[in-house]
Amino acid sequence: MLGNDKNKKNNISEVIIIGAGPAGLMAAISAAREGAFVTVLEQKDKPLKKLYATGNGRCNFSNIYMDDKVYRGGDPEFALKIVDHYDRDDLLLFFHELGMMTKHIGDYIYPYNEQARSVADALLLECRRLGVKICCEERVVDITYKPENEDEVSSDVYSEPADEVRFEVKTVGRIYGCRKLILAVGGKASPAHGSDGNLNGVIKDLGHTIVKQYPALVPLMHTDKKLAKLAGVRVKCAVSLIVSGNTVSSERGEIIFNKDNISGIPVMQVSRYAAKAFEEGREVYVRLDLFPDETEEELSGLLRRAFDGYYDVLSLKNKDPRRDRSALEALGLCTNEKLAEYCLNAAGIIPRSIAGNVQEKKLKALAKLLKGLDVRVTGDAGFERAQVTAGGVDLSELTDDLGSKIIPGLYIAGELADVDGTCGGYNLQWAFSSGAIAGRDAGKSVLNR
Ligand SMILES: Cc1cc2nc3c(=O)[nH]c(=O)nc-3n(C[C@H](O)[C@H](O)[C@H](O)COP(=O)(O)OP(=O)(O)OC[C@H]3O[C@@H](n4cnc5c(N)ncnc54)[C@H](O)[C@@H]3O)c2cc1C
Repeated sequence: MLGNDKNKKNNISEVIIIGAGPAGLMAAISAAREGAFVTVLEQKDKPLKKLYATGNGRCNFSNIYMDDKVYRGGDPEFALKIVDHYDRDDLLLFFHELGMMTKHIGDYIYPYNEQARSVADALLLECRRLGVKICCEERVVDITYKPENEDEVSSDVYSEPADEVRFEVKTVGRIYGCRKLILAVGGKASPAHGSDGNLNGVIKDLGHTIVKQYPALVPLMHTDKKLAKLAGVRVKCAVSLIVSGNTVSSERGEIIFNKDNISGIPVMQVSRYAAKAFEEGREVYVRLDLFPDETEEELSGLLRRAFDGYYDVLSLKNKDPRRDRSALEALGLCTNEKLAEYCLNAAGIIPRSIAGNVQEKKLKALAKLLKGLDVRVTGDAGFERAQVTAGGVDLSELTDDLGSKIIPGLYIAGELADVDGTCGGYNLQWAFSSGAIAGRDAGKSVLNR
């Protein structure tokens, strides 16, 4: 057994986890619940930095709804299998048993007080109860694997029985040893919170493939100066990502126009397909259907009514209300005024012109534009502003327990793997599910040798 006092003093653990994010701490708890002595190494000054920022500080950690489209990456079925194995109900039970109440708003699941801090505290209190050692400001820079049949590792680093130590984990100032190692260092999204791909080279040296990483759930940039004037406008619509003329992905919801980008849940959802297209130099558009519930024909009719106003020829005789409203006022009845002005100009209608004078042909062109407003997007807002990473460790190199098929005793959990979820709590559910499964297997196997 490695978990004796002497080994603890010499930085030897049965299980080491690199990364104190949600995946890492869930793995730590699961391994420790199996009876393993667990150490977590975290480069930041405190654990769970990113978790505090999730869901605008409210932490949407799971979702009532699940289908085969919520996970993307190299093998969405694999991701679903893992999440099925440790699912939403397991996660809710886990938190309820720790005393944290939960609630759902629509399908999104949150801690009852809508504070990410409660999720963090629940995890940290359980780590403390189980004696998990969390070492902060310990940036791992190298990992050495020692196969079972090789000579013992040098005795000045490890106390006996050194042959049980399979991994030497080097941080900036220390060397740690363990029998099972779980990598939960995240992807590259939001590096300010600690995940920046700094161990990618080491992971590749261990023999693993890292599928190219792109920002996902990220705003998309534009350079349209006229569109920039819409900064702050929010509108509910249908969004399609068009790459080289083909629709790649579609979503519905509220989008937000910003000075140099468009954001909001539906834009973020389709963004993971844009990053790769930008790199390949393809033309990318976000097509907005501002009236997704109406056909183009229906919309033309509705516009005609808005542009004409109430017009009862018999009772009003010579008074023509069409003279009373401008095109902008007419379209402003149907959508945001700033957006209305932008669309009228784009359709070649002068916003101050008399609504009733707008020709049928022009109204039809306006209806067409409102059903398919193309915004040319020129890039994504980068990993700095991405919520998640597409790409990561190739899933075909992992077992059903998230163990490495290449290095025995090594596990991969969380966003480091080639899985990215859509908005709605699916990324944290993945982090917790994968952490629970990897940690449980590592803890079990270290003690059942
Ligand atoms: C602003 C924002 C909002 C989000 N909101 C939601 C939401 O509401 N719902 C949802 O499901 N998902 C959300 N996400 C995504 C979610 O936070 C991540 O998918 C999740 O945190 C990934 O967990 P992880 O443990 O795999 O990685 P991380 O949380 O990234 O943790 C990895 C840890 O590893 C540490 N580390 C990295 N390299 C080293 C090293 N060399 N040595 C030691 N430690 C290292 C890092 O410092 C970090 O603490 C959001 C993300 C962001 C940025």
